[in-house]
Amino acid sequence: MKGNIDMTTGKEYVASVFEKVKAQNSHEAEFLQAVEEVFNSLVPVFDKYPKYIEENLLERLVEPERIVSFRVPWVDDKGQVQVNRGFRVQFSSAIGPYKGGLRFHPSVNQSIIKFLGFEQIFKNSLTGQPIGGGKGGSNFDPKGKSDNEIMRFCQSFMTELSKHIGADTDVPAGDIGVGGREIGYLYGQYKRIRNEYTGVLTGKGLNWGGSLARTEATGYGAVYFAEQMLNARGENFNGKTAVVSGAGNVAIYAIEKLQSLGAKAVTCSDSSGFVYDPDGIDVDLLKEIKEVKRERIVKYAEARPNATFTPAGGEKTVWSIKADLAFPCATQNELDETDAETLVANGVLAVSEGANMPSTLGAIDVFLKAGVSFGPAKAANAGGVAVSALEMAQNSGRTSWTFDEVDAKLYDIMKGIYENAAAAAKEFGQEGNLVVGANIAGFLKVADAMSAQGIV
Ligand code: GLU
Repeated sequence: MKGNIDMTTGKEYVASVFEKVKAQNSHEAEFLQAVEEVFNSLVPVFDKYPKYIEENLLERLVEPERIVSFRVPWVDDKGQVQVNRGFRVQFSSAIGPYKGGLRFHPSVNQSIIKFLGFEQIFKNSLTGQPIGGGKGGSNFDPKGKSDNEIMRFCQSFMTELSKHIGADTDVPAGDIGVGGREIGYLYGQYKRIRNEYTGVLTGKGLNWGGSLARTEATGYGAVYFAEQMLNARGENFNGKTAVVSGAGNVAIYAIEKLQSLGAKAVTCSDSSGFVYDPDGIDVDLLKEIKEVKRERIVKYAEARPNATFTPAGGEKTVWSIKADLAFPCATQNELDETDAETLVANGVLAVSEGANMPSTLGAIDVFLKAGVSFGPAKAANAGGVAVSALEMAQNSGRTSWTFDEVDAKLYDIMKGIYENAAAAAKEFGQEGNLVVGANIAGFLKVADAMSAQGIV
């Protein structure tokens, strides 16, 4: 097969596909950012495997297999009719059914969902589990909504989504704004419409098909990944200080695992600001405030003697606090070049990304140039979706594993991801660069499957 591709070098090929992607998606800044990061890593792969150029693999991969965009009408508690926009991007089914979370947040648009879906392809491949890449969500803002409003919204969202998903087709889960409560409402509506009890969603409750350790998995996984990076430097968690952003599922369980392994996590944040607790974050209190009462983070500072609250929007962020380790666990582009310079000046050793694409391209450059161990999101936060795949396996086998069994598998998966990424970086001449390593290792498995399956 030669097609109409005349490019001879990987560099020319990657550059020409990126120009096309830019021209066709010029208004999708986050999607282009995610694509650029991956493309920059893949040049040596195309030099080594020119058949992927002949098969125009990159241009096919960067075009989602399918995007569904739909109206989500619902009635609020005042009886007013509200309308939101829903999305599901089914990006790649090369190595398994589409798999990835749903995000409910006012910032959600097609660019955000496409960047998340694109990242998910490589992340899911890295887990070693048979899952393709997808993502979805809505610009619905759950903040301040009653349980009944959340339920009505979820039911309307699923009424359309149910036409496009299935246990062997596409298996959504949670992301920002979608936790156990939302998965429950979504699952109830799916079951009611389709009349089938299948593993069509992950992150389910423990009594109705969920997996133990799924709630903890993303945060724990980011810490297990950091442990591998520290071990490679001859270091461990003992006595280390960590700054963590976010106060959702990922941040809470990263903090919990850090404390249990001997580190002290001293910060957390939400959109209203951040908390600095020099005594170490009290995880039970944080859980009570964020998971049970669903309150703002300032309540944490009010309840702890030495903790301070700094409102968002000022100069200071969690990244201004001196620490050995950093775990960005809030959202995309929350850590820029200046923040990275501050962390480096303060002696940070390792950064493990719990959120999706939290560091800008400029920030990543600063970390890599300074010799900081940097665990990119698609590797470091893959623990969540990895345990989702284990939930799917338990559902298919109509069985359930103990917490320790799942946690042990999660640990092995994170260790495996680190080792694969480190080996790929070395093989392609960029030893220690886990960004390049993760992109290449994630890509190769998908590319091989696409190549075997013909031009589809
Ligand atoms: N939203 C999570 C992620 O970014 C989890 C997805 C899943 O479990 O399917 O990977």
